[in-house]
Amino acid sequence: MTQSISINRIHYPIHSLGFGARVGVWFQGCQIQCPGCISRDTWEPGTNAIQLDELTQTLLPWTAAADGLTISGGEPFDQPDAVAALMKWWRTKNGGDVLLFSGYSAELLWDRYPEIVAQLDVLISEPYDAKQPQTQPLRGSDNQRMHLLTPIAAQRYANLDVAPTLDLCFDDDTVWIAGIPKPNAMAEIRRRLAAMGFAAGTSDQLLDGVRG
Ligand code: SF4
Repeated sequence: MTQSISINRIHYPIHSLGFGARVGVWFQGCQIQCPGCISRDTWEPGTNAIQLDELTQTLLPWTAAADGLTISGGEPFDQPDAVAALMKWWRTKNGGDVLLFSGYSAELLWDRYPEIVAQLDVLISEPYDAKQPQTQPLRGSDNQRMHLLTPIAAQRYANLDVAPTLDLCFDDDTVWIAGIPKPNAMAEIRRRLAAMGFAAGTSDQLLDGVRG
């Protein structure tokens, strides 16, 4: 497999971005750049590039136990060949569902990448809109749409009624949060941590040199 892929981070297990305990892969680079995105550290394209073989070697030990794969970003479809290659490999190792978050419209994705979309179980499409309410599971704003494309997706997600969850992840000396926070949740987390003497910030604040 000679496929380069720009990755922001990976983690297992992730419980906040799909059914069960999942492998999470966050792609690096996003041309969409929605106002209010809390993942601004994922926008810069072309950084953290590795070979897919290297990525899959890291993911391999998690494939036996994982309930599925969540692909997020950044914008995965800014690297469509890498999405296709990663899914092709994953399908040989795990029978769970593959869920992908994209900021592009479903119509655009079906038009430009029908063979890749057809390999997904769950597609969550449309850009984040900070002006919209947030009442739907697994969506940052209510304009975003969940598409259940396969029987396993319907079985696992049709009646999904999950309380909003965030994962607190520890990677070496870094602590970070995965999931879809409610509006103002990050401000509240920063406020509580500050009250305990800890500084924290969302990636846009850190990129702007602001600490909470
Ligand atoms: S598509 Fe996702 S990563 Fe890109 S700007 Fe929008 S919310 Fe952020």
